[in-house]
Amino acid sequence: MSDYLVRATGFNGNVRAFAARTTGIVEDIRKRHGMLNTASAALGRTLTVTAMMGAMLKGDERISVKINGGGPIGSIFAEANAHGELRAYATNPQVHFELNELGKLDVRRAVGTDGFLYVTKDLGLREPYQGSVPIVSGEIGEDFSYYFVVSEQTPSAVAVGVLVNPEDHSIFGSGGFILQLLPGTPEEDIAKIEEKISKLPQVSRLIAEGITPEELIAKVLDNPTIHSKLDLTFNCGCSAEKVGNTLASLGKAELMSMQREEGGAEVHCHFCNELYQFNYDDLQEIINDLDK
Ligand SMILES: [Zn+2]
Repeated sequence: MSDYLVRATGFNGNVRAFAARTTGIVEDIRKRHGMLNTASAALGRTLTVTAMMGAMLKGDERISVKINGGGPIGSIFAEANAHGELRAYATNPQVHFELNELGKLDVRRAVGTDGFLYVTKDLGLREPYQGSVPIVSGEIGEDFSYYFVVSEQTPSAVAVGVLVNPEDHSIFGSGGFILQLLPGTPEEDIAKIEEKISKLPQVSRLIAEGITPEELIAKVLDNPTIHSKLDLTFNCGCSAEKVGNTLASLGKAELMSMQREEGGAEVHCHFCNELYQFNYDDLQEIINDLDK
């Protein structure tokens, strides 16, 4: 089953909605970084919201999210664009705790509650849009709900979840939805939405059982209309060429000192965990190009 999201509206156009399945991508990231269960849940929840926020963009606009609540996972970074290309990592991927009192992965404990959620959107303007809110929950979904209300003045319900196989740490299911109330949504619709969400089983379990994003939308919206579907893929975008350009920007003196002291250079991509190695001659080539 491939990962994708859908854009929808419901309640006679009063509510805008997104629903996503990210199981495969979170499993890919887990394997790349050897993530443990609680960290996978925190990262997967963050990635799922970021993917849906990416789907709110147009053209070549991009979004990056950073969450740092002072907890043992460190910082979580997630990026997405309007084409459904995603990447994410956590600075400390090997974080796991006992299940919390609700029998769920203790994401709050991994993330912490003393810090901020940062959102940066590159909208092709001179300055990127930047917003940040204090972390109010550490469970990720509630933190984004708070962000949407405070920073974007859009009342939103965010439900995201990741179900992890306790035996081998693999991802059973990852996904979720965002509902956004458009101005003038009648009170009775808001009450209905709240009732539907309160009756909904855990979203991670639904996804693991095979519910599609379309079916998830149908569970939370009255009279839903699906407008479009977007395939989601892991795409780091890093390459030997881009890393070479970064090295070149360090300048000739620095590159020569790397040649002398290390005999080359090793550059590690935080997002995909790829290691780029440049030997003495590779660096010489970059230096020669600088001299041209
Ligand atoms: Zn990479």
